[in-house]
Amino acid sequence: MATRAAREKNSHLNEHHKKILADLMGEEANMHCADCRRKGQATWASWNLGTFICIRCSGIHRCLGVHISKVRSIRMDMWQPEWIASMQEWGNERAADQWEYHLPDDFSRPAGSDQAMDQFIRNKYERKKWIRKASDPKIREPKFSPKAAAEAAPAKELTHAEIRAQMLAEEKEKKARKKAKKKAKKAAKAAAEAAANGEEASAVSPEPSETPITSPEPEPEPEEKEKAAAAEGSGGEEGEESGSETEDDDDDNDDDNRPASRAGSTLDSALWD
Ligand SMILES: [Zn+2]
Repeated sequence: MATRAAREKNSHLNEHHKKILADLMGEEANMHCADCRRKGQATWASWNLGTFICIRCSGIHRCLGVHISKVRSIRMDMWQPEWIASMQEWGNERAADQWEYHLPDDFSRPAGSDQAMDQFIRNKYERKKWIRKASDPKIREPKFSPKAAAEAAPAKELTHAEIRAQMLAEEKEKKARKKAKKKAKKAAKAAAEAAANGEEASAVSPEPSETPITSPEPEPEPEEKEKAAAAEGSGGEEGEESGSETEDDDDDNDDDNRPASRAGSTLDSALWD
């Protein structure tokens, strides 16, 4: 990520993920390696299997290939929301309920050699020797909703801020467009009046439609004002200027009768003052 904002967002999300992982690692079953059951060494994870494992078993997992196990370090890797969701969905206890469902109670896990452990892990995940089958009772629901993990709180906050900024921008754009339209209408009216009064109608240019919407001009150009005043003078319309402004305000307020009204009214004053 290139920008500072993006980096900060990532770091914020990463902190949140580390906190979730730390909480998960505090659970009894996750303190032991999911495969060899050694305690206090499960600092690695197979995120697609959703298990906490030790460094030795993580090496064996890597040899299985990523189509079976995707290994990451709890501490050193930058975790993705999807990986976190999988860890929350599974965890060592529920994963064992899936992968070791038919493992005999008196089964003794290989303790010593890496080779024996390698065989056990291959039997478990590659050959699916003890896996829960479709004919077996359905596995219990996960304790955590995977979706809750993906929609983690900090990300939500950022989204809110982004939505707000977007709303403000849209509001601003809308106001500017409206303003330009009114202005054009007003100028056209002045031109029509001028024409009706036989005054150099061709010289009164209708308000440019290409007025930049990002920087609306609340006040008409001075020369335009003069022309409008001249037109009004002969037309006998007093105070047309202020009258139309009031009309504008009323219109805008009507439009703001919706949830975004606060953002809108703030912008309103910024544009109109
Ligand atoms: Zn292990």
